[in-house]
Amino acid sequence: PERIVAMEEQHTDDWQYSLRPRRLSEYIGQDKAKENLSIFIQAALSRGEALDHVLLYGPPGLGKTTLAGIIANELGVNFRQTSGPAIERQGDLAALLTNLQEHDVLFIDEIHRLSRSVEEVLYSAMEDFSLDIIIGKGPSARSIRLDIAPFTLIGATTKAGALAAPLRDRFGVISRLEYYSPDALVHIIKRAAEILDISIEDQGAREIARRSRGTPRIANRLLKRVRDVAQVEGDGRITDAVADRALRMLEIDQAGLDHTDRRMLDTMIRKFAGGPVGLDTLAAAISESTDTIEDVYEPFLMQLGFISRTPRGRVVTRFGYEHMGLHYPE
Ligand code: ADP
Repeated sequence: PERIVAMEEQHTDDWQYSLRPRRLSEYIGQDKAKENLSIFIQAALSRGEALDHVLLYGPPGLGKTTLAGIIANELGVNFRQTSGPAIERQGDLAALLTNLQEHDVLFIDEIHRLSRSVEEVLYSAMEDFSLDIIIGKGPSARSIRLDIAPFTLIGATTKAGALAAPLRDRFGVISRLEYYSPDALVHIIKRAAEILDISIEDQGAREIARRSRGTPRIANRLLKRVRDVAQVEGDGRITDAVADRALRMLEIDQAGLDHTDRRMLDTMIRKFAGGPVGLDTLAAAISESTDTIEDVYEPFLMQLGFISRTPRGRVVTRFGYEHMGLHYPE
């Protein structure tokens, strides 16, 4: 079945494309990133130049791809989309880059997963819009230099820290996306409900927003699941009571924690006396990947103040214990 809190976008998320805003003015929240980008976009347009390369970072589902598409749209250029793991060889990247038209946007999702050799080709492409590639093998191999059209690279990553410094330094604009406030999510949910023709009350939207981990992709997934319950058990309208019942069925608690969040807290408390516990040990204990814990579970639990990081590992805080209904050992 579909996982509500999944690391990656899933094929069952295809319908969410129709919900992607196309203009900066329709992009809800992230005011700081929006304000900066809007100035840089205006400046690039008025100078008739390509926008500086942009790095967007933050947990999955916060709207990095959406924002990249909007930037291209606002610039009036083509949007080409790929991802770090999809570019296997230098030639793959060369093919992408040589097909770009002047000022186009190339979006590379999960840019921290590019291989070193591909990354090296990217450096000169970003810096002076040229490519040095080796043609042939052995003694007959030679290096040729190709010019490419000035373009804008938009990179997205869940962790800016995982990027090699020389790559990070080549981005002129670095924007961090934040978890959304409940108010912003209410906005996003009501907009999505309107597009999908779902009837929802303000309080119903608020209930879903509170339990969406500050993440639009999850808010959209929950909206759809709650609608199913509203249709089967009621008249199709999403009220706060219907939302609450549906979210309980999905094992999403009042704070928005899912089954895995709670299992992680529970394991840390019972098996490791509340910590400190190292990432690898924790991952093994709950059978999740270290990436998923680092990118999805940990940032949200830290944001809620349920766990904290110490030099010796993660620890459960007093709030974390209390949320699990357990007594905090002094
Ligand atoms: P990311 O690339 O960060 O993983 P996406 O850009 O794919 O996230 O966003 C996931 C979904 O959330 C999108 O399909 C879109 O419907 C919705 N979304 C994200 N950000 C916003 C926003 N600011 N306003 C409205 N909807 C949003």
